[in-house]
Amino acid sequence: MVRRFEYTPTLGWSISRYDTFNLCKRQYYYQYYPREDREFDFLKISTLKSLTSVPLEIGNVSHEVIKVLLRRLQKTAKEIDRERFMEFVRRETLRICGEKDFIEVYYKDADEIDPETQILPKVLAALNNLLDSPRLPWLMKEALETKDEWLVEPEGYGECRIDGMKAYCKVDFLFPVGDEIHIYDWKTGKKDEKKHPKQMRGYVTWAHFHYGVDYTKIKPKVAYLLPEYEEQSVPLNEFDIQAFSDLIREETDEMYGYLENVETNKPKLKSEFKMTDNLRICSFCNFRELCGRD
Ligand code: SF4
Repeated sequence: MVRRFEYTPTLGWSISRYDTFNLCKRQYYYQYYPREDREFDFLKISTLKSLTSVPLEIGNVSHEVIKVLLRRLQKTAKEIDRERFMEFVRRETLRICGEKDFIEVYYKDADEIDPETQILPKVLAALNNLLDSPRLPWLMKEALETKDEWLVEPEGYGECRIDGMKAYCKVDFLFPVGDEIHIYDWKTGKKDEKKHPKQMRGYVTWAHFHYGVDYTKIKPKVAYLLPEYEEQSVPLNEFDIQAFSDLIREETDEMYGYLENVETNKPKLKSEFKMTDNLRICSFCNFRELCGRD
């Protein structure tokens, strides 16, 4: 049973939050404290914040359709009509992308984004790879019995506590098999040997917190969907988890260091959030217009 939390303004660690903090303090400020800014309009910052990119949308659309696929498997074990499913994937890709503004267009790196040729082929490849993988028949054989307990992209932000600290670790797909809990994280991008295992440690901690299952019984896997389907297990025990908790404490304290008030999560002045000197980071940043780096 997933535990619920009352809202508090306290800063909560998440892998994406700390990654942004690490990348550029100014980007972190715009991303997490846009209402505090006195230089630019909140609406302007929000518009930039919501820009997406082609690689991001390939990942996002793939997640959305996998969610539908898994929820459909929860309802019926009937064989999937591949052609109809792929037509659905096509429609969803066009619908989702049609609602988005792309950073490539906003910053005039491209006149327009054509989802049909720039996004759909990779989403279809990712989905076909998943459907052709041995994981799907395994799932139908081993995990179907507990399908009512599957967690498929659960609502909310995945709040939990890590050693008493507020943290967010949202799993893509979690399901029990026997006395074990399996966790899958879908990836359409490249392997990241540092970031992905760290993310999986977060999911294990989340599952342990909510389900009270021993760490050794939680089996996290990163499932790479492109260019081929490939799974990577992340074996963990309580020592890895202790080291992870220590790291989260360190990273949370670092972020606290930029707060004027830790209880209310009020940031220090914007001038404390320095712009990075690394222009390569700026070239991928949504906020580059605000920093004059567009
Ligand atoms: S444009 Fe560069 S300096 Fe400005 S927020 Fe983005 S990464 Fe930071």
